[in-house]
Amino acid sequence: MSKIGETTLEIDLFALEHNFNYLKSRITPGTMFLAVVKAFAYGSDMITIAKKLVQLNVDYFAVAYTKEGILLREAGIESPILVLHPQPVNFEVLIDNCLEPSLYSPRILQLFLEAAKAKGLQQYPVHIKFNTGLNRLGFWENDITPILEQLTDRNEVRIKSVLSHLAASEDIKEKAFSLQQIEDFTAICQRLNAHLGYRPIRHLLNTSGILNFPQAAFEMVRSGIGLYGYGNNAEIDAKLKPVATLKTVISQRHKIAPGESVGYNRRYRSNDYRITATLPIGHADGIGRQYGGGKTNVWVNGKKAPIIGNVCMDMIMIDVTDIDCKEGDEVLIFGHEHSAEDFANSANTISYEILTAISQRISRRIKS
Ligand SMILES: *Cc1c(COP(=O)(O)O)cnc(C)c1O
Repeated sequence: MSKIGETTLEIDLFALEHNFNYLKSRITPGTMFLAVVKAFAYGSDMITIAKKLVQLNVDYFAVAYTKEGILLREAGIESPILVLHPQPVNFEVLIDNCLEPSLYSPRILQLFLEAAKAKGLQQYPVHIKFNTGLNRLGFWENDITPILEQLTDRNEVRIKSVLSHLAASEDIKEKAFSLQQIEDFTAICQRLNAHLGYRPIRHLLNTSGILNFPQAAFEMVRSGIGLYGYGNNAEIDAKLKPVATLKTVISQRHKIAPGESVGYNRRYRSNDYRITATLPIGHADGIGRQYGGGKTNVWVNGKKAPIIGNVCMDMIMIDVTDIDCKEGDEVLIFGHEHSAEDFANSANTISYEILTAISQRISRRIKS
C-alpha cells in the first residue's frame, strides 16, 4: 500500500463484511439485522459504511439524531432508518426525509401524532421504545394502556417495531439483570400485541447482547460496535476485525538533553538524553489529554513509543529514543494489530469513546 503521508484513518470494508457475517452467524438465520451507524459510523465514515452494508443486504439502519438520518438520505440510502433519539423540533424534517422515529415518552408520542396529523400522514411507521432497566429513554410498562388510548381511532401512525435496550449486556456478573430485562420485554410485547391485533417487529439486543443472549434476538438485532470490529471482550475481539486503523507520520525528531522539558507546561522533564518525535495529531483530532503523560503507547516500526507530556491541539510528542526511525516514517496509533480497545483502556476508557472521537478533519482512506 502506498504511503499515507499525513494522518489518515484507513477504513477496511473487507473487515466490515467479515464482522457483519460473523455477527449474523451468531443468530438464527432470517433474523433481521439493523446496523447502527450513528456518530459517523462510530467515527469512521457513515456514508461509505452504509453503502457497503446496503450491498450486504442489511435490513435497517439506526442513527441517534435526525440530522444523521438526513445525511444518509442525501447520500441516496433508501433503506428504512430508525432515529433513536429524535427531538420534536425536527419532526417535520424527519417526516420529509422518510425517517422513522423511536417514540419514548407520552409527550413525544403526543407531539409526533400532532405532527403526523398536520402532515396528513396515514400509517406512518413509528417505533415504541420501552425502558426495562437502563433508565435512560423509554416508556414504562405502566404506559401501555395510555399508549393504546392515545392511538385509539388514530390512523396517522402504525407501530412498526417495539424495542428496549439492555443495561449491562457485556457484563456476565449482571446476567440475572439482563435475563430479567429479556423477560420483562417479552411480557410487554405480549401485552401490547394482544391489543394491537398485529405484531410489530421486536428488538432488544446490541452487539454484546447478540453475543451473550442470542436466544433473545426476537425478529431483529441492532449492532454497532461489533460491525466496527470490537466485541467488549478479548475472546470475541479475536474473531472480529477492526474496520478503522488510525495512522500518522513523524513530522520532526528532537534530541533532548538532561534537564530539558517537552511540550506545554513543561509536563515531560528529561533526566538524560532522549529522542522525541512530533506527530501531526492532537486533541482536536480526538486524542484527548488523558492519553498524555506517558501512559499510552503508539507504534513506530513495530515498537512501542509512549505519548509524553501534554497532548496539544494538533500535535503529540512521543519518545523514540530506542527506536530506529526517521522523519516521514509512519506511526500506528491503533487499529490492525493494536486495538482501539487497548489504546482506550490505557486512559481508562472504552473503544466506543476513542473511535467516535476521531475528528472529521482527518483524511479517510477506504480499503475495498
Ligand atoms: C448505540 C446503540 C446500539 C448499538 O450498541 P452496540 O453496543 O454498539 O452494538 C444499540 N441500541 C441502541 C438503543 C443504541 O443507542
